[in-house]
Amino acid sequence: MKFVKIRENSWTHSKFPTAAAIPGRGAMITRRAFLKTTGAGCAALSFFPAMSMGDDDFPEDIQKYVREARYYEKLPAKKIRCLLCPRECVIDDRERGYCGVRENRGGIYYTLVYARPCTYHVDPIEKKPLFHFYPGSQAFSIATAGCNVNCKFCQNWEISQVRPEQIRSIYMPPAEVAGLAHQSECVSIAYTYSEPTVFFEFMEDTALAGREKNIKSVVITAGYISEKTDQRLGYDILAMICATGVLYACGVTWLKILTGMTWSKTRMAGMYPFLIGDALKIAAAALIAKALRPILRATRNPK
Ligand code: SF4
Repeated sequence: MKFVKIRENSWTHSKFPTAAAIPGRGAMITRRAFLKTTGAGCAALSFFPAMSMGDDDFPEDIQKYVREARYYEKLPAKKIRCLLCPRECVIDDRERGYCGVRENRGGIYYTLVYARPCTYHVDPIEKKPLFHFYPGSQAFSIATAGCNVNCKFCQNWEISQVRPEQIRSIYMPPAEVAGLAHQSECVSIAYTYSEPTVFFEFMEDTALAGREKNIKSVVITAGYISEKTDQRLGYDILAMICATGVLYACGVTWLKILTGMTWSKTRMAGMYPFLIGDALKIAAAALIAKALRPILRATRNPK
């Protein structure tokens, strides 16, 4: 693997210098860059025709980039609802979500950018910009195509606002990313440039592979991501237990003041007889909240 120095303390792979890696490129695009970018997009489209044609299975040559998404729910008529970010896109069969890198195929939702970075550099950690996290160290920085937001000021729009087939990418599975980071003497792997939320599965597996080599993870993100759905039930139950505890504390204290009983007698009279009933109420409320959540989501996002 050969790296080319493109500016002070920044390298890119010689074979795939991306527009975002070219020094001096800001939000403006030159005619030459436009022709190059659109030419590469057309070439990629012809290389991956079946992705836009909607075959039942992904073609063999791109199957290595495809993984079933981790956070979505199935809906009737082969629709799905993506649960990865707060957009919660409802997606028909053969369609993609807002970010353009996740596709519904026959009711199964797939990420199309697993192990598919479109750019990677060795950057100083201060460029992330982190000034108090291993200062002076290098971060192995990767990104894939796609983003779940559309900021007008995005300096990396050439990779964030395109679909995977519109940009040149390479196959780099998580273990290889971790290996290259280790080889480049990087203290961390940075998920950056575009929005790491949209390549969550790739990021998660790469972070785990990096941890095995004692390499840290740095996520540069807008934070537009959903809580894990299976954690929400736990949060609901915890919140209700805390609220019930506060009610018991106030109620038992007030009962003791009114009656002048000892603490143990007050608890016997005003707390213990109600514990089982309240536990059952918490369980019932949590189950009702779980059942109602999809209905509330559908009201917010009827598409
Ligand atoms: S991650 Fe993409 S597909 Fe999923 S909800 Fe967000 S924008 Fe939609």
